[in-house]
Amino acid sequence: MKLVSFLTSEGQRPHFGALIAGDTEVLDACSVGAELPEPATYGDWFDLASESQRALRELHAALLSDASLLEDLRGRGAILPRGAVRLTAPVPRPGKVLCIGLNYRDHAKEGGVEVPEAPLIFSKFPTSVTGPEHEVRLPLESEKVDYEAELGVVIGREAFGVPVGHAREHILGFTIVNDVSARDFQFGDGQWQRGKSCDTFAPTGPFIVTTDELADPHSLRISFRLNGETLQDSNTDQMIFGVDELVSYISRTITLEPGDVIATGTPPGVGFARKPPIWVRAGDRMEVEIEGLGVLANPVVVTPVGRDRSGTPRGS
Ligand code: ZN
Repeated sequence: MKLVSFLTSEGQRPHFGALIAGDTEVLDACSVGAELPEPATYGDWFDLASESQRALRELHAALLSDASLLEDLRGRGAILPRGAVRLTAPVPRPGKVLCIGLNYRDHAKEGGVEVPEAPLIFSKFPTSVTGPEHEVRLPLESEKVDYEAELGVVIGREAFGVPVGHAREHILGFTIVNDVSARDFQFGDGQWQRGKSCDTFAPTGPFIVTTDELADPHSLRISFRLNGETLQDSNTDQMIFGVDELVSYISRTITLEPGDVIATGTPPGVGFARKPPIWVRAGDRMEVEIEGLGVLANPVVVTPVGRDRSGTPRGS
């Protein structure tokens, strides 16, 4: 199943659902009615233990073989053409966004750096999350904004002290993250938080592929294109710590909750490591592609003076 969050023409509250009919239509889980009860909070949609997740999976499976059910739901406005909705990040406001530094063998080799003995963990604030085709806004004070193509892991079941062999049971699915980074902030501040967490610096999506449909996340081609030119091209088989090891390692000391996102590190070819370096500019188009997970594309703009990330004048 490909899980999505999206806005309809009716308002700014995200709806949850799944792509159907060869990804041409969206099942709107928030408009089905009694067969598919909405959970108490939006975040509960990401909980594999929730009744809503179970009912959504059941309905999705039934749609594959029941044409009259499809017609019925279309008639009730619970199935919409994909073009009629605007996708947001599949988890619009995760509780945590955890990132892994230096997790690709070929990237470590490129930088002449030792392969780390344990995962290097850092974070991006939830307010940095944005969706596919949403604008990434360059901060006015930064001149060195960079891209990082990454496989994203979405947690589906609370995890604390989970052994590697059981980690997969705590994963809802996989998505794409672009770990956008202001290198001048990152390396100038003495720590990475601001450079990694600017508004719009965590584009995520376009959807979550559930684990039952993606058995092996460690053999996927991963690439990044800037204005159509390929600048990163590797495979997740180059990851030093796999997704199960990462979930297990983090859960030793940090409770992972449904909807938390782990960005698992980037392959070689990022802008700052190039000679000469490549920085992202206003007017650029960034695209991250991962085999089976689609393309996460974002246009780049300058943050308008005096306006917040939604374009609203500050202070209003
Ligand atoms: Zn990264």
